[in-house]
Amino acid sequence: MTRITFHGAAETVTGSKYLLEANGTSVLVDCGLFQGRKDLRERNWHKLPFSPKSVNAVVLTHSHIDHIGYLPRFIKDGCIGPVYCTPASEEIGELLLLDSAKMQQEDAEYANKKGFSKHKPALPLYNEYDVKRAMRKFRTVQRDEWFQAAGPFWMRYHDAGHLLGSSMIEVEVREPAKTTRLLFSGDVGRYGAPLYFDPQPPPACDFLICETTYGDRDHKPGSAIDSLQKVVLDSIARGGVMVIASFAVGRAQQLMYLLSTLLRERRIPEIPIFLDSPMAVSGTKIYQYYAEEHDLIEGLNCTSADAFDMQHIHLTRTTEESKRINSHRSAAVIISSSGMMVGGRILHHLKQRLPDPRNTIVLGGFQAEGTRGRALQDGARSIRVHGQDIPVRSAVVEMTELSGHADRGELLRWLQPLPPPKTVFLTHGEVPSASAFADRLRQTRSWNCVLPRMGESFELD
Ligand SMILES: [Zn+2]
Repeated sequence: MTRITFHGAAETVTGSKYLLEANGTSVLVDCGLFQGRKDLRERNWHKLPFSPKSVNAVVLTHSHIDHIGYLPRFIKDGCIGPVYCTPASEEIGELLLLDSAKMQQEDAEYANKKGFSKHKPALPLYNEYDVKRAMRKFRTVQRDEWFQAAGPFWMRYHDAGHLLGSSMIEVEVREPAKTTRLLFSGDVGRYGAPLYFDPQPPPACDFLICETTYGDRDHKPGSAIDSLQKVVLDSIARGGVMVIASFAVGRAQQLMYLLSTLLRERRIPEIPIFLDSPMAVSGTKIYQYYAEEHDLIEGLNCTSADAFDMQHIHLTRTTEESKRINSHRSAAVIISSSGMMVGGRILHHLKQRLPDPRNTIVLGGFQAEGTRGRALQDGARSIRVHGQDIPVRSAVVEMTELSGHADRGELLRWLQPLPPPKTVFLTHGEVPSASAFADRLRQTRSWNCVLPRMGESFELD
C-alpha cells in the first residue's frame, strides 16, 4: 500500500513537499520553502511531522525555491539523501540555494540588529556551508530514463517546459502484488513560451498530483514578444525608465532573448538595457551552456548562439555599477530581481523610479500574497521599502504573457489526452484557484478531485 502526505503546497502555492511511503521506504518529492505571507514563512521554522532521517531519497521537479529551498535544512536535520534531479536543475539549484542562504543570513543579522526576533540570537534556517553539504547529495538523471529512487519507487522525468531542467515526474510503485502509477505535474509551463519546449503530454496514471497556480484564470492572449515591444515603446514615448521585476534565473533569460530579438529586428530603438543582478548574469551562463535545451520561437531571427545578446545588454555585477544606473535619466530598460520584489537590487530601483509618473514598473509573473509585487498588482498607492513609504506614481504594468505557468486553459489543454485517473489531487494553488479548477474538472470530465489540506494523508489504493 502506498501512502501520500501533503506537507506543503496544500491550499497554498509554496512549500512543495509530498511524502510517499510504501513497504517501509519513504521518498520526498520536492523540498520547497514556504514564501509570501508571514504565517506561511513562519512554517519554515516548524518541526516537520516526520523525521528527515527516515526519508530514503528526495526527488526534485525543478529548481525554484518553493520546490527546493528547504533542502539544505532537511539535509542538515538528518536526511542522508540521495537527491535526484536533472543536470540543469542541479546547476540552477546550487545558484539559487546559495542566494537563499545569503538572504537568510542577512535577515538573521538584521533581526539581531533590530532586536525583533523571538529567537536570541536569530539564526538563519541554513547557511552557505549547509548548501554545499546538500549539493554533495545530488545525483543527476536525464529525462525519459527510468531510475530507482529508493525501494519500490521507480521514477522518470518528462519535460514540463517551465524552467530550464524542469520536469514532471512519472512514478511507478513496483510492489509484488501490483504496480501503482502516479504523476506529479511539478509546475507546468506554457505552450509556445520563449525558450522552452511545450510541456510533454502527461503519461497515464492512477493518481495525479496537479498544480493549480492559475487554475481560475487565463493569461492575457497574445505573444510575449509583441506585448513586450508595446510596453517598451510606450515607456520610451513617455520618456521614462522601465523596470522589469524578474526572477534572476528563467524569466531574466527569456527577457534577454526577447529584447535582443526586438533590437535585432529593429522593432525597438537602441536604448540602454541593464541586467542588474549578479545572479542573473550567472544564470545566463547556465542557459548558454544548455543551448540544446532551448526551443527558439519559429520565425524569430535568432539562433541558440546569439539568443542572449551580450553586445546590447549591460551586465552589472558590482554595487557601484548598479548605483550608477540610478542616475540614468533617459529611456532605458532595467531588468532586476527579485521577481516579487521581496528583496534584492530591485528595491533600490523601486525607491528611485516609483515616484515618477514617466516611469513604468513591469510585473512579470505570479505575485504571492504578502509581497510588494502583489501590493502593486492590487493598486497600492504606496509601498514600504527599507522602512520608508514610497509613493506609487509610475505606471504599473502586469505582463502575464511572461508567466512561466500554464494558465487555466493551458492546464486543461495539457490534461486533455490523459485517461481519467482514480483521483486527482489539486495542489500548488491558493484555495479559490484550486477549487475553481476542481469544479471545472468535475463538470467537464467527471474526474474525482481532492483538495488536500496541509498534513493530510491518503492511501493510494
Ligand atoms: Zn516553478
